[in-house]
Order: sequence, then C-alpha cells, then structure tokens
Amino acid sequence: MKETLLFLFFSFLFFSCKTTEKATKWKGQPPVKAVSTNTKPTQKQYKDVFNLGDNIYVTNNFDGARLNGITRINDTLISTLITPENTPINTSPWYAFKIWSKKPTNIYINLTYLNNVKHRYHPKTSIDGKNWNPIEPINYQLIRTDTTSKSAKIAQLKLAINADTLWVAAQEVINSTDNKNWIQTLVKKPFIKSKSIGFSKEKRTIEALEIGKGSNKKMIAVISRQHPPEVTGYLAMKSFVETIASDTDLAKNFREQFSTYVVPMVNPDGVDNGHWRHNVGGIDLNRDWSNKNQPEINVVENYYNSLTKNEKKIYFFVDFHSTYHDIFYTVNPALKSNATGVVPKMIQQMGEELNLDPNIKPSDNINSVISTRYFFNTFNAESLTYEIGDDTPRDLLKKKGEVSAIKLMQLLLEQN
Ligand SMILES: [Zn+2]
Repeated sequence: MKETLLFLFFSFLFFSCKTTEKATKWKGQPPVKAVSTNTKPTQKQYKDVFNLGDNIYVTNNFDGARLNGITRINDTLISTLITPENTPINTSPWYAFKIWSKKPTNIYINLTYLNNVKHRYHPKTSIDGKNWNPIEPINYQLIRTDTTSKSAKIAQLKLAINADTLWVAAQEVINSTDNKNWIQTLVKKPFIKSKSIGFSKEKRTIEALEIGKGSNKKMIAVISRQHPPEVTGYLAMKSFVETIASDTDLAKNFREQFSTYVVPMVNPDGVDNGHWRHNVGGIDLNRDWSNKNQPEINVVENYYNSLTKNEKKIYFFVDFHSTYHDIFYTVNPALKSNATGVVPKMIQQMGEELNLDPNIKPSDNINSVISTRYFFNTFNAESLTYEIGDDTPRDLLKKKGEVSAIKLMQLLLEQN
C-alpha cells in the first residue's frame, strides 16, 4: 500500500512536471553565426596549494581545475574569483577546486565573476573525485552585489570541511585522464579498439574508439566535449556508446553491419585547463569546421576523412553537448541524407519510450561552421546535435543515451 501511494505520488510529480515543461518549451540558443577562428591568446591559471590560515588549504593543482584568485575575508568567509580563458566568450563559468582543513570547521565560500557574468552551475561536491552530489539548497544561495542589478553575481556556498580533501566543482570533474580510463575499460572487449588519432595544441593525444569490424562499409560517428564544461552531454555520450558496445542481440547484429567511430573528447586541452568554452587557441571549436584553423578540428576531420575511403559511408553523426535544458538541434528533415528521417524517428521513439516530450529545433542553415553541418555536407550523414540540460538528472540522461542508441540501431538495421 505504502509503495502504491509513493508510486502515485511520484507519477503525479512526473506528469505535472511534464505538463509544465510542455507549456514553457525552451526556444533554444539563437542561430549560430560564422566568426573568425584565428588563434587568440588565452590566460593560464596560476596553480598552487593556497594556505588560507588556520590550517585551511585550497588547491587548483589538478587537471580540470579552475580557480583564478582566492582570499580569506574573515574567520568564516573565503572569496574566490573565477575568470574565463579569454573573451568574448559564451557564459558557462566553470569552476573546480579542492579544499581541506586540519580542524573540522564550517566555512562560507563566495564564487565571484567579473563583468556581469552570471553564475550558471549548481555546485557539486565529492570526497573521491568520482561520486558527486549537488550541494543542498540550504547551503547555497545567490547574492546580489548591488541593489540596482537584477542578476545574482555571487554564489555563496556553506561547506563543512575537515582533514579529508573535498572537491567542489560546477559539474562532475571528468578530465582527459578519466576519458582515457573509460576507454581502457571498453577496449577489454575484443571488438573494440582505441587509437590516438593526433595531438591537441598542447600535445595531448586525441583518442578515438572503434567499435565493430574494420571491414564494415557502413559507419556511424560520435563526438563529444568540444566545449569543456559540457559534462552532462559527455555522460549521455558514454551511455550511448556503451549501449552500442553491449552484449544484447541488437547490438551484436548492429556491429555485424555497422562500425562506430567515437572521438569522446575533442578538446582535451580545454578540459584539463578548466576552460569555460575554448581550446588553448582561444577558439570555440564548434565554429571552426569550415575554416579548420585549430589542430583539434584538423585531427578529427582527417580521421573521419581517412575512414570514408573505399566506398565506406557514414550514415549517422551525433555531437553531444550541454546547455540550459534538454534540446535536439537537427538538420531540416526535408534535406536528404544517407539515412533520411532516422534522426526525427529516433528522437520520437526515444521520447515515447521514456514518456518525454522532446524539444526539437530543426534548422535549414547548412553553413558548415559547426560539426553537424560539416558531417551532413561532407559525408551526407544524418546529423544531430544532442544537447543535455545542465541539471538533467543523471539517471535520466543515461537512460536517454541508452534508449536513443537502441532506437538508432533498430532504425538503421531496418533501413538497410
Ligand atoms: Zn556545446
């Protein structure tokens, strides 16, 4: 009885949320404009362990960290400054640092930004860097710096700290080493290979995963993490790829016919430097697919170009990102591709199965400054920008990745 009541309560919550979401469907970001992608200078963080007195320490000395300034204001308050790698830049102020205190104590931390930048990410903490929890609302508030401004400028967190290191970050910290570790777990399967396909500007390797037989003429392509803070998109990508690599009959059948080529972290320099948006060339990589000024885009393009020799075809391409709310940016479905109609059908069937009402924004604009248009124009691949919201529950985004992969595999097998 208790379970039934609970179930009814959660169903009610779920359906009422769904209705609200439908009523206020997000319009998405404005259309992408072509911009210069010539390399620009970026600022490095000064990395150290900062002694704040009373045996309280903070560090940004790890890959993925971002903390540009720190000062102790009084016994109970620390102020931090978070700045971007360069400007102008999309407002996605990433922050990540570690804190500890020899004596257990409660401390307030202000996250401050310059030039009217708005706080975006709900803070998360972790004691091992692997398992993360959002900060309880009671320990988190947004403070206006002046009464004339309507936008909150400072995020204040209250933390209980002790001798164990506490990670504090905008989203789960998943850096290039974590990406390599994930790849290593997958390549234990005999039908998966990893490959270093080239180097970023700071000479980090750009890794690819190859799933299925190399002799397959049919291919799909998956990329992620052009934009460093977009961790929720990366998590959905992992679930999508793991489903294609799973032991189900569907996945086995799919791999008999289709091989999957994944570049899970296109911008490892940006990720490890804790950037808000750009690579170390100071450029939004998802505006460089036409100019090809940045090494990361050249590496990824050369890789997929080399794969499409000998009558091999890319049927489907997906680029995983994160934004304020879940949304799908698609190419106008009237335009013909190697798998015309598969993207809208995949999204619709995924939505039906998960009882969601997917927010889809098709576009006629086929200028190739962004990845999906490049893959559509160059390879005629059915292409999708798969956006996950910053605060989408992690179990739901995994489910979306999984069910999308299942529907995609079914649709491509039916079509061919
Ligand atoms: Zn993005």
